[in-house]
Amino acid sequence: MKEYQFYIVPTPIGNIQDITFRAIDVLKSVDVIACEDSRITQKLLYHYDIKTKLISYHKYNEKSRVEFFLNLLNEGKKVALVSDAGTPMICDPGSYLLKALIENKISFTALPGACAVTTFLSGIPRDDEFFTFIGFMPRGENEIKEVLTDFANSNIVFYESPNRIMKTLEKIKEINGNNTMIGISRELSKLFEESIVDTVENVIDYFKDGIKGEIVCMVYKTIKDSIDVMPQIEKLKHAGYSTKDISKILSILTDKPKNEIYKLVSEN
Ligand code: SAM
Repeated sequence: MKEYQFYIVPTPIGNIQDITFRAIDVLKSVDVIACEDSRITQKLLYHYDIKTKLISYHKYNEKSRVEFFLNLLNEGKKVALVSDAGTPMICDPGSYLLKALIENKISFTALPGACAVTTFLSGIPRDDEFFTFIGFMPRGENEIKEVLTDFANSNIVFYESPNRIMKTLEKIKEINGNNTMIGISRELSKLFEESIVDTVENVIDYFKDGIKGEIVCMVYKTIKDSIDVMPQIEKLKHAGYSTKDISKILSILTDKPKNEIYKLVSEN
């Protein structure tokens, strides 16, 4: 197996068994593990009988610690980076260090493994592969609106805290309408794991007594590719329907806004 100086190592997002044999070997073989909260990572190390030394590396020291890790690596030491859970650098620290490794030509590799967004996506049905992952959903109504508009032709995937998710869903309902389709999972790989795909209105109703745990959510794409409706537009035009009627019919059938279809009909 090729050896590197620096390893980016995913750890479980819930179920402690969701870690690869290679990840365990790497964590055992390196000189130092950079981790966010040593109390959390220590539990994992204890479970797998890993004795490697931990050094803190979190969002508050991720810039100032870069020099320290570069020195270790230049001395020939091997380092692994983990986060509290899941894949480092997916909404977790690591980027500053990785940039410095590249600048200093230090060899590194990222191991495949547990990650909430990929676990979520592999359990939520979609019509296509096109998604936009935005990290955590912004809080303000205007910012949420911007996200929903800018990425309307894509499935929008985001992380959200249980304290904010209901407000966020309410805002999505207000902005995109009651029938906006939502996919939502909580507590992936844990005891109370559950996933729901339904309209935003029904999801809000389902969780009306509150929602607990860690959450990944997806707003299904609201604008379908224009190529989808062109054959139908042609057929309806050929059958003598007016632009107004075609817009009305296809808007109902495709969930596309009427004015968008109207524009397509008039321009083609
Ligand atoms: N690096 C992590 C990863 O690979 O997914 C993500 C870290 S981010 C700081 C933490 C967020 O990920 C949580 O607030 C939640 O939205 C999501 N998350 C983490 N574990 C999860 C789980 N077991 N089920 C659902 N969402 C989870």
